[in-house]
Amino acid sequence: MEAAAKVELEGKPEREVSSFAKSLFLGEICEQLVFPWPAPDPAEQQRIRALNAAAREIGSRMDPREVEEKRWVGDKTIRELGEAGLCGLYVDERYGGQGLSQTGYARVFETFAQIDATLSIVLGVHQSIGFKGIHMYGTEEQRERFLPDLASGRKLAGFALTEPEAGSDAYEIRSRAVLQPDGSWVLNGEKRYIGNGSKGDVFTAFARCEVDGKDRHIALILEQGMKGFEVGERYDTMGLRGNDLRRLYFKDVKVPAENVLGEPGEGFRIAMQVLNNGRIGLGTGSVGATKRLLDLAIDHVKERRQFGRPLAEFELVEEKIAWMVSHLFGLESMCYLTCGLVDSGVEDYSLESAICKVSGTEFLWYAANRAMQLKGGAGYMRDEPYEKILRDIRIFPIFEGANDVMRAFIALSGMKPLGEKLSEVGELHLGDPIGTIGVLFDYVSDRIARQVSPEKISLVHPALSEHADAVSGQVSALRGATEKLLRAHGHEIVERQVQQRRLSDIVSDIYAQIAVLSRVSSIFEDQGVEPSGQERYIADTFCSRAASRVRSSLSSIESNDDERMSAIAKLAYKRGEYGYALFED
Ligand SMILES: Cc1cc2nc3c(=O)[nH]c(=O)nc-3n(C[C@H](O)[C@H](O)[C@H](O)COP(=O)(O)OP(=O)(O)OC[C@H]3O[C@@H](n4cnc5c(N)ncnc54)[C@H](O)[C@@H]3O)c2cc1C
Repeated sequence: MEAAAKVELEGKPEREVSSFAKSLFLGEICEQLVFPWPAPDPAEQQRIRALNAAAREIGSRMDPREVEEKRWVGDKTIRELGEAGLCGLYVDERYGGQGLSQTGYARVFETFAQIDATLSIVLGVHQSIGFKGIHMYGTEEQRERFLPDLASGRKLAGFALTEPEAGSDAYEIRSRAVLQPDGSWVLNGEKRYIGNGSKGDVFTAFARCEVDGKDRHIALILEQGMKGFEVGERYDTMGLRGNDLRRLYFKDVKVPAENVLGEPGEGFRIAMQVLNNGRIGLGTGSVGATKRLLDLAIDHVKERRQFGRPLAEFELVEEKIAWMVSHLFGLESMCYLTCGLVDSGVEDYSLESAICKVSGTEFLWYAANRAMQLKGGAGYMRDEPYEKILRDIRIFPIFEGANDVMRAFIALSGMKPLGEKLSEVGELHLGDPIGTIGVLFDYVSDRIARQVSPEKISLVHPALSEHADAVSGQVSALRGATEKLLRAHGHEIVERQVQQRRLSDIVSDIYAQIAVLSRVSSIFEDQGVEPSGQERYIADTFCSRAASRVRSSLSSIESNDDERMSAIAKLAYKRGEYGYALFED
């Protein structure tokens, strides 16, 4: 079992939970994990300010359009970023990094995302996923060998998981590493869509391997220049055109034993854990990018006049801006609460990071569309940033776990502990619902005595108790709905993806509300309720809107047209076309 976060309840025995969000599916609110709001470390704040200033300064000399034309952010830019300490943000200082917390890392990444999506992806491929595995699972020797060059930007990293036949179903990769008598491995296979492809010096690559007669996965550190490691053709992408996206070929690549990451057999788990972490970055990156869009939109609607007044004065314009502000507040709260969980030592944040990724990337997409709408015809012109932003960010809901698959993962891994409880009393056989879409953390459900979990949120500021009560009710309803679905479908629940999506959306909205309540409670405590009227307004708006979405999803779980929709799709597959001709052609 992974070490779990320990929760000390006042006067109650110490208990363990593996994940805050998973406990919600059990109808429990492990509020000590999320209250009080995780306060940032003041010493780190100073360093972050300096790093952000350096990032902005380097970014100001970078022309995103030129990056698109040249199709690379530029070796000089990478060198400057490295010299400024921006290529090894979380790496321990003894390897030349900045040693930032997850929160600190996220804050600097927001700045990258505000400068340019391509810059944030090149640096994200490098740090969030490229060498994160070495940081998390590397031996001391591997860390000493690789991290100083990577943290200083002298070398760039990449992450090679996807293959032509294995995208969302990454478990099914076909690249294979075979153990040699001298302890080395010979790797054969092919990868596609690999960022930093020809620019990367070090790649964390994944392959199948045999361990004790069983077919498993292995994580390998590949280095540019290894014989048989070939960089293939570059993809002509819609956006992120400065990201060097390539195929990679492995032809009898001899990988020494000292380049095996973790234990042979652990490869899939390493890949998923790295991605779990990377997904938080996509959430916080979306926060940063939306802040920029909001700034652009506010400037424009205040300045542009139509019908004799500024656009800003029209109610439909106000509604768009208010939606962006309040939703951004919710997303930001949720992403930084998740960073706080990671910083506090919670090891299982797989569900929370998936929630941040899905919510962040979809909110950013709609925010970009609304900001462009407000810009009118001018927004459609290529001298404005919107078309590039839309092209760049469209991939976010697809890569690092397609959002559809992430929703299934959130729901299925969330309902697993409850499924186990029900199977223990012989009420159903759930088995492993996740299949190959992720890695389950052990959930120590036995050690969570339900009767000692608070049924209501008690640590919220009294001025927010109305929302806290509503959220507590939603958590019980989530448990009720999950249990009902499990009893109705048993193991077949894995096939009911639309119901899974509803559960996933419900838990996301609950988690976001709790994050907002925690954040605003701490503002009230620090500054008083009266002077914090604006935050109260945002919390009221965000929570009541989220509660209404939760009610709507709960009602659709009860009554829906899922079967009809499934039948319509099957008929369309059979016809192979739309098939309802209005006119005879
Ligand atoms: C710009 C870019 C950068 C990338 N960078 C990297 C990188 O650096 N390293 C790397 O390893 N990979 C990278 N990728 C690959 C990326 O992670 C995959 O494209 C992604 O995982 C989806 O896999 P796929 O393209 O094979 O789509 P598929 O797996 O074929 O899925 C297509 C669509 O089908 C739907 N779908 C799939 N499975 C399910 C399901 N179980 N239930 C419901 N719906 C489903 C989803 O809507 C999904 O979007 C990158 C891709 C792009 C385009």
